[in-house]
Amino acid sequence: MVVDDKFFQARVTKRVDFAPDLWMFRIEAGGTFNFVPGQYATLGVEDGGNRVERPYSIASSPSESEVEFFFELVPEGALTPRLHKLQPGDGLLMRKAPKGRFVLETGDGRTNHLLVSTVTGVAPFVSFIRTLSKDWKEGRFDGAHKLYLLNGASRPWEFGYKDELTRFAEELPWLKYIPTVSRPWDHADWPGEIGRADDILRKYADSWGLDASNTHAYLCGHPDMIANSKAILKRRGFLDKVAIKEEIYWVPAK
Ligand SMILES: Cc1cc2nc3c(=O)[nH]c(=O)nc-3n(C[C@H](O)[C@H](O)[C@H](O)COP(=O)(O)OP(=O)(O)OC[C@H]3O[C@@H](n4cnc5c(N)ncnc54)[C@H](O)[C@@H]3O)c2cc1C
Repeated sequence: MVVDDKFFQARVTKRVDFAPDLWMFRIEAGGTFNFVPGQYATLGVEDGGNRVERPYSIASSPSESEVEFFFELVPEGALTPRLHKLQPGDGLLMRKAPKGRFVLETGDGRTNHLLVSTVTGVAPFVSFIRTLSKDWKEGRFDGAHKLYLLNGASRPWEFGYKDELTRFAEELPWLKYIPTVSRPWDHADWPGEIGRADDILRKYADSWGLDASNTHAYLCGHPDMIANSKAILKRRGFLDKVAIKEEIYWVPAK
């Protein structure tokens, strides 16, 4: 591997496969990696002297000793097929500097946070929730901010973090969590919400009393979900610069 002082030589310590094309890694950064929940890391591999790198939202909390990521395989992609081959013990590159401003906005009086995601786009929200949960249990967070999480997927097995988030929502009075499936017809036993995340956004925003005066919205993942959700939220008066934050994972092919 090329040695470059902008990169850590990180190492995979754990891998969990949720589906053939969805998995998580925990990695040992190989140095001090300070980030804020909601930020992303830049991961890469060396291949024949070329470095291929991409941004990935961090799912873990800064208090954890390892850094966690939730990946989707893009079969024709440049990096994910290479990451998908890695197993515990294998090395990868991670830029030493985390990036991004997709962080909780807590300073302007709006105390509701509507978190809308598709599949792997739940990762930064897992980081928010793990962090606030620890703060809550240790008396650093009083529950004044409320989190409302919608997570959309095509099929039930695509929710890598559903069990963890369901447990959190059962025990934390400041968290609501709704996983929703857009292709339920093959899964008659799916007991949950049906539709894309943007399809159910209006209904849940109404039932939870979320409006532009009391809520920040955070949209993460699929570009179409983000465009649709933004249009719905703008019609509901989410107009100022910080009312809607977005993390678009890829640019759709034209
Ligand atoms: C801030 C940020 C955070 C991100 N966090 C995550 C994350 O937590 N987990 C994660 O899996 N990805 C995440 N991504 C996407 C990630 O950076 C890569 O774009 C993705 O993994 C594909 O990389 P690749 O090299 O395999 O494919 P590429 O060679 O980059 O892409 C090949 C083609 O596939 C399209 N494409 C890319 N991703 C997808 C997708 N998921 N579905 C369909 N088409 C796609 C591209 O637009 C391109 O046309 C994030 C992106 C950004 C900007």
